[in-house]
Amino acid sequence: MSEATVYRGRFAPSPTGPLHAGSLVAALASWLDARAHGGCWLLRIEDVDRSRCKPGLDRMIIDQLARCGLYADEPPLWQAAREPLYAQALARLQAAGHAYPCGCTRKDIDTVLAARGERLPRHAERVYPGTCRSGLHGRVPRSWRLRTDVCAGAEPIRWQDRRLGLQQQDVPHAVGDFVLRHGDGSSTYQLAVVVDDAAQGITDIVRGEDLADNTPRQMLLQQALGLATPRYLHTPLVRAADGQKLSKQTGALPLDLADPLAALRRAGEVLELPPLSAASVPEWLCAAVQAWPWRAR
Ligand code: GLU
Repeated sequence: MSEATVYRGRFAPSPTGPLHAGSLVAALASWLDARAHGGCWLLRIEDVDRSRCKPGLDRMIIDQLARCGLYADEPPLWQAAREPLYAQALARLQAAGHAYPCGCTRKDIDTVLAARGERLPRHAERVYPGTCRSGLHGRVPRSWRLRTDVCAGAEPIRWQDRRLGLQQQDVPHAVGDFVLRHGDGSSTYQLAVVVDDAAQGITDIVRGEDLADNTPRQMLLQQALGLATPRYLHTPLVRAADGQKLSKQTGALPLDLADPLAALRRAGEVLELPPLSAASVPEWLCAAVQAWPWRAR
């Protein structure tokens, strides 16, 4: 990042559950990185997938963050109110021939993959076989997909993650033509996150390592839409006792914020911060900014 660029970071929770120990690590890391770079920290509520969001959880998350001393520098954004912006981005991709309508159901996709001898573990992500690239074959359009082969070119997408080092992915083969807009008219996380990171002028994305695999899809979309690519830092995950990633899906307990300082200390350990002597949340945050190991990287 050049000295002249003002650092803008963000935390972008989906209000599908309250903050848990893992999401506090991502929130804290993004806040510390922004502060250590003298930048701004923004909050975006990622509620495009209305079926998974629960009412009131947005406010609860904002409140939990506040109890940990993490306040955004600008008013939060709610993605549900921003569908027109995502529709405009999709219209640009459609006009460029980079997006196409797809009439496939999950079952249609599985049938094609099975016929090709590709066996899928249950819940595994399907690599879309490209059936509707050449037209809908009489099916009713359901979703819109990105034409990844045209957008990606011959080279894999490469990026230098600040923690994970050089990463690469061949998106057309590893993921296939991914969905931009669902059949119900709602935009996908991939499209919304790219549009909003650009609209909010985000220079640095700091988030959990479980999302690293989404980065090449997002970079491809940034390129297709002519948007800048931010820097990425993917943080360590909090593991449950059995080694599984802690997440809302695996039933992570909400944070116990009776003692926010203790919760911050635990999150700090995951982020490899040294033990910090502090008697209050503001004191601990101040010391953590000074000790932040990713300052110069
Ligand atoms: N909304 C996503 C989540 O809660 C995070 C998106 C991001 O940081 O890019 O998992």
